Amino acid sequence: MNNFQKTLLEQGKVINETVLKVDNFLNHCIDPTLMDDIGNQFAEYFKNKGITKVITIESGGIVPAYATALKLGVPLVFCKKAKPSTMNNPLTSSVFSFTKNTTYTLVMESDYLSKDDQILFIDDFLANGAAFKGIEDLISQKGAHLKGVGICIEKSWQEGHSYIMNKGYDLFCLASIASLQNGQIHFS
Ligand code: 5GP
Repeated sequence: MNNFQKTLLEQGKVINETVLKVDNFLNHCIDPTLMDDIGNQFAEYFKNKGITKVITIESGGIVPAYATALKLGVPLVFCKKAKPSTMNNPLTSSVFSFTKNTTYTLVMESDYLSKDDQILFIDDFLANGAAFKGIEDLISQKGAHLKGVGICIEKSWQEGHSYIMNKGYDLFCLASIASLQNGQIHFS
């Protein structure tokens, strides 16, 4: 069991059979040492994939993606969930939010992605894969290449896992959860 899985067991709170709360160490209050460890693990796994850029989505993915980009020595771009007035030439994709139960527009400045980019997507959670599909859409709009997907916590029974595997992408998850039944975290 890695450090991240240990922390998840000790501090993660099962809200119901599909939602886990981790805002005391991952996506609200941040444990910097754990983030450093996360960055090391993702960078070690993807170091030979020729990654030129890390992409994530605000806000939960930013800190683990930053830690990973730092270790890989490449830039990080985070997609926004609303278009700021200062953005000139946005790429957009529509995404259904698992936690907020609404649809939002994923936005990214087109200039920050080029057709030569080899992308690593990092996020805090993988559930039904809607966020991933939005990123996949933005990457394909620019003709860039998705080389890997790094997820802190996947809930492997939800649709995202099989979608990514069926498309043949390289998926690496720090913690893969098989179920949240009876108020408990059960790893795959
Ligand atoms: P998906 O798009 O794969 O359905 O869901 C992924 C996104 O929803 C993640 O970026 C994360 O923000 C959020 N999410 C999905 N499942 C959970 C969960 O169990 N707990 C929390 N806190 N966020 C989740």
